[in-house]
Amino acid sequence: MSFDGKNNGKLNLKSDLNKESPGKSLIWEDNDFNFFTLIDGKEVFIGRGRDVPYPLEEGDCWSLPNGRTFIYRDGAVKPITPQSQEKKLKECLEDLYEKFEESYLYSDPLGFVHKFEDIKDIEVAGFIAAGFAFGNVSQIIKILDKIDRIVNHKFYEFTVNFNAADGFKFFNGLYYRFIKERDIVALFLILSEMLKKYGSIENFFLKDYNPSDLNLKNAIIGFSKRALELVDFSPVYNSAVPPEDSMVHFFFTSPLDNSPCKRINLFLRWMVRNSDNLDFGIWRDINPSQLIMPVDTHIGRISQYIGLTTYKNPSFKMAEEITGNLKKLDCFDPIKYDFAITRLGILDLCPKNKNEENCGKCSIFNICKLS
Ligand code: SF4
Repeated sequence: MSFDGKNNGKLNLKSDLNKESPGKSLIWEDNDFNFFTLIDGKEVFIGRGRDVPYPLEEGDCWSLPNGRTFIYRDGAVKPITPQSQEKKLKECLEDLYEKFEESYLYSDPLGFVHKFEDIKDIEVAGFIAAGFAFGNVSQIIKILDKIDRIVNHKFYEFTVNFNAADGFKFFNGLYYRFIKERDIVALFLILSEMLKKYGSIENFFLKDYNPSDLNLKNAIIGFSKRALELVDFSPVYNSAVPPEDSMVHFFFTSPLDNSPCKRINLFLRWMVRNSDNLDFGIWRDINPSQLIMPVDTHIGRISQYIGLTTYKNPSFKMAEEITGNLKKLDCFDPIKYDFAITRLGILDLCPKNKNEENCGKCSIFNICKLS
């Protein structure tokens, strides 16, 4: 059989099981299910049987047991050969990744979510924890612990049974920086409606998810827009829609505003990634390769130091650029280094100016432009 180019981003089965002559089709197969393509005029083996994800879609990549990796992009199959700089970057980031593993969860709101065992609680507590993940970590943990006491450690049950009138009693006087009691009530009201109507935040999110999208940008746009339209906010803000300056918007940011959507991307990382003991991987329908880097000031700054971005300020464009560059290192799990890189900032290990004491011990010293 052979494949001969794109059709709506997919390669289609064309003829029979016999090997065809190179050049006639993009991919062909011999009688032993070995797949080939033509690269720089030479026939190249690209995998056997299920090695090759069929039918191919734009951005698909796969590796052979020998580590050789290919990507289907712009109607062609291309090998991914790490350049020496990329190799160096990957080695350094791998070092960092191995150093900052799950024993550092105490220094992250994700550690709070690990207190829960039921996946329904993990999902709701995760959304709340990611939503409040801004500012100083110890302050974040304090507000999360306060909310945990209010919901009696039963995030799902509390949320699915939530109503605004009781909510004002439960959260009376509670605030975190510019997030006031009424914004917290509005947030729980939205999550409650998601759980009642869709059964889970995941099901609500998946309404705008397309498995063939390059990343989750469109899904996030749809998620935030629909969330802010999901309930009548009259009991909270005295108007059916939240006033523009209300802080409930802060929990449902959108790429359309060029917001990096750090906290939504962080929540998605926690729910989707499944390859280590950091994230939960309880959302199984989303491909981790579609995740987008949760960019905050730490990630933005350090990404500039190590050449992952040309942008100066955190934005969705910066998040996509960083993710795109990380995909060159690991196209299946591009944001695996997020937790490790963020430790440098959160734990005050990376100074804003060159600092010999810190830089000398830093795993990414060899690739850091600042050091
Ligand atoms: S080498 Fe120094 S400046 Fe560069 S990332 Fe590490 S600690 Fe930060």
